[in-house]
Amino acid sequence: MAFKNIIGQKRALSILKGFIVKGRIPHALFFAGDEGIGKKLTAINFAKTLNCSPTVEDDLFAVAEEVTAGDTLSVNTDACETCPSCNKIDKGIHPDVFFISPEGDGGQITVSVIRQLQESLSYKPFEGNWKIAIIDNAERLNPSAANAFLQTLEEPPPQSLFILVSSRPDMLLPTIRSRCQRLNFSPLPVDTMSRMLVEEFDVAGHEQARLLSTLSGGKLGYALNENLIEQREWSFEIFRNMIGTLEEDVWENRDAMDEWFDWAQLWLRDISVYKATGRSDIMINQDKIHEIAAIADNTNLKEILKLARELYNIKRRLSFNLNKQLTLNYTSLLMKKMLGKTND
Ligand SMILES: [Zn+2]
Repeated sequence: MAFKNIIGQKRALSILKGFIVKGRIPHALFFAGDEGIGKKLTAINFAKTLNCSPTVEDDLFAVAEEVTAGDTLSVNTDACETCPSCNKIDKGIHPDVFFISPEGDGGQITVSVIRQLQESLSYKPFEGNWKIAIIDNAERLNPSAANAFLQTLEEPPPQSLFILVSSRPDMLLPTIRSRCQRLNFSPLPVDTMSRMLVEEFDVAGHEQARLLSTLSGGKLGYALNENLIEQREWSFEIFRNMIGTLEEDVWENRDAMDEWFDWAQLWLRDISVYKATGRSDIMINQDKIHEIAAIADNTNLKEILKLARELYNIKRRLSFNLNKQLTLNYTSLLMKKMLGKTND
């Protein structure tokens, strides 16, 4: 895997390559954007590119100097994928490249991990040009870890680079954010992604590809790793049960409950689209047109939108540890009231 294999994210990649060509690598980068769109992959490949073929005499700096001097010497802006350095980074055993992510019960990045990193960074690179620390889910730095890390950011060791990765950028301390150069990663457009799924990932048929692209919100990692179609069926079954006869315990755990509320918005979106326009071509779940039409026929637009708002509010409150059974009863009651009978 190298930069050339990363799909989408042209803007972020061209900025990173620009750093290499100019020979000006920032001390700290912050990759922000949704889960599953290639942030971490890009970080790893930037680390590989920077440390690629470190035995070559005219290393990165020398080459960059010539380029800034007006020479047309080409700079290596992608990882070769074959040298020992690239291999070691792929395996996670490169002595100059560090991967940090939340661990333990609380899922936090603790101060001891940061202290250890500081110690490791205090030496010169062993093999590569750069010492690179990739901090995944950087918003999970706990307060003391964040403070310790802040000191490092203020006085970064020479030849070191920090890449902070987060899908919840607003949760990172502003003092840390402001010391990093931010690169935003965005989801792929549906058309581009559908085409790629068919051409490069052997997804059978454009219909299926379009559905996956839309359901995943343009997040390729999500579309490829999760069984989205199965989850969709699961969520719709519960959705319909809620309106009809409610079965006990439809969510197996809190995560499932949390996820279901996201799916419910998707179904309500299609029901309202159908109710407002009668068109199936702009629905996401076009293959469920009959079921959706049946629900839409039984209610009105105002109730659908009201329900969407109510479910959104419940979803927000789930983080306050709402009781699962009470949530289920209440949600089902709302759904029966607003979708289960004629409101006109
Ligand atoms: Zn290489």
